Amino acid sequence: MIALQIDVTGLSKTYPGGVEALKPMNLSISDGVFALLGPNGSGKTTFMRMLATLLEPTSGTATIDGQDIRKGRKQVRRLLGYLPQDFGLYPSLTVEEQLDYMGLLSEMTAPQERQAACERVMEQANLTSLRKRAVGTLSGGMRQRLGIAQALLTSPQLLIIDEPTAGLDPEERIRIRGLLAELGGDRVILVSTHIVADVEATADALVILRLGEVLFTGTIEELVNRTRGRAWEAVVTRQRLHELKEQYVFTAVHRTGGDMRIRIVAAQVAGADAQEVEPTLEDAYLDIMGLAESEAAAA
Ligand code: ADP
Repeated sequence: MIALQIDVTGLSKTYPGGVEALKPMNLSISDGVFALLGPNGSGKTTFMRMLATLLEPTSGTATIDGQDIRKGRKQVRRLLGYLPQDFGLYPSLTVEEQLDYMGLLSEMTAPQERQAACERVMEQANLTSLRKRAVGTLSGGMRQRLGIAQALLTSPQLLIIDEPTAGLDPEERIRIRGLLAELGGDRVILVSTHIVADVEATADALVILRLGEVLFTGTIEELVNRTRGRAWEAVVTRQRLHELKEQYVFTAVHRTGGDMRIRIVAAQVAGADAQEVEPTLEDAYLDIMGLAESEAAAA
């Protein structure tokens, strides 16, 4: 396993106009798949673009493998592959032509080296059978795999991928998750998402962001442990459900006959015969978000 160390110290971004997209952040990341989880607008893209040296921080910095993102831009870029959420492709090129062209843009001038790299990344992203397909005819999931293949061309030790599962149908989403989990064995992957199940399927550790603020950093197990003793299930009438909804954070609601089976995260539940249950990652995420929201409302 390649160990690449990322150290983030006091990194922040305030956009012109005053939006504080990322509050000063401290973070250490080493090997495996590391997820940035948070709702839209929580600062994930801002953070990733700063790490990829595409956006100037307002304060603080980060080092990747000892290289400072503010001083050694060139060296840092050599270490990483970045895939933004919206990336341009040339619809009339075939998959292999697109990759070859991106190889050229990445300064792989020797044709043999470029060809070998294209073959390798098509293999890695399961695109070999699609090599002759025009890029414009690819599905969302195939496009995303092509984007990941492009980012892998230079064999970076660090892959930064922004919301790779956004807008994909469930089957394609599962395929992308599988690919990331596989690729994470040989390099560090930093992946953003607003979907909890993406994290569960791929990540070794995660950071939760809300309105530019870090709410949690650690492993999935550590996050779930925080909600142990705070997850409940109850079967209630529809009327009761509406009353409880006013007071509690619901993490699931299912119909069961004429009644409703609900899941709640809270210290305790009054007004329903609730049983304590084993928390899921989804429970833990909604719990930490709910606590942050009620703290913000009380302040
Ligand atoms: P996420 O990736 O989690 O959706 P972003 O990093 O894109 O979050 O955005 C964080 C916040 O910064 C949002 O409030 C967004 O509107 C704001 N923002 C993003 N880019 C810009 C920009 N170029 N100028 C001003 N505000 C921006």
